[in-house]
Amino acid sequence: MELQDPRLRSLLRQANKVADSGKKAAAEQLYRQLLDEAPDVAEGWFGLGQVLNDAAQQKEAYKKAVSLEPDYAPAVRALAELRGEPVPEWAIEPPELEEVEPEPEPETVLIDHEHTAVPTEAEEEFELACYRHPNRPTSLRCYNCGKPICSSCAIKTPVGYSCPDCIREKEEIFFNATTLDYVIAPAIGLVLSLIAGYLVSRFAIRGGFIVYIGALFLGGIVGRIIGQFSKQAIGRRRGRYLPHVMVAMLVLGTAVWLLPILIFAGFGSLFAFIGPGIFLFVAGGALFSYMK
Ligand SMILES: [Zn+2]
Ligand SMILES: [Zn+2]
Repeated sequence: MELQDPRLRSLLRQANKVADSGKKAAAEQLYRQLLDEAPDVAEGWFGLGQVLNDAAQQKEAYKKAVSLEPDYAPAVRALAELRGEPVPEWAIEPPELEEVEPEPEPETVLIDHEHTAVPTEAEEEFELACYRHPNRPTSLRCYNCGKPICSSCAIKTPVGYSCPDCIREKEEIFFNATTLDYVIAPAIGLVLSLIAGYLVSRFAIRGGFIVYIGALFLGGIVGRIIGQFSKQAIGRRRGRYLPHVMVAMLVLGTAVWLLPILIFAGFGSLFAFIGPGIFLFVAGGALFSYMK
């Protein structure tokens, strides 16, 4: 199977590099990380077989690779050799005589590997471990800050994989409401809600079809109007909890008028609250989504 996900592709490339550098245990971990997510990648199973020490496990890995891709010559060859069987003729010749290096590495020309202690790219990258899980080796980095992250910490964004910290930072830029905004918007919301709540307590408690339809339509409009006025007053900034606070103000502004009715008329008149209930539900929903 052709690996579509660029992250998994780079993981496979990384695993192959680490395997080539002879770090079998490390490579095994990377192959397993890859196969956890993409168990149908024959090259991953073949690579895993190459770095395992136990012959039975190796055989299993090669078998898996061959079952996924029956004409995958290196795996067929490795499996036959392990079983002591003759290698099928078509699989004898290595299919690719020249390695196609997808990314030319100019620095390898400059570094004399035999005489310097400079780590190769493979070694260097493998030293990376997830900054939140130090025991998880990874080749993945946050596109924004470059910190190494494991596949379970990585958050997919349209521009690349991001670490949780950078996501939070972006959210903080997105939610730019000031402390004062948390005072102004709810204050306006409460005043408007008190007016709306008064009207609701006068008219919506009568019940009846017309009232319910009216509560449904007007609820949406009123919720939106409260949102518009409040948001305008705070420069249209957003707050993570502002929608919740605003809905709380709406409920408060309405309940102030309804509660005395409930207390004096008793619970026998609960049907009177169907209209206000519809109003609150629709207005709250409209207000919440407007403040988001
Ligand atoms: Zn980051
Ligand atoms: Zn992690």
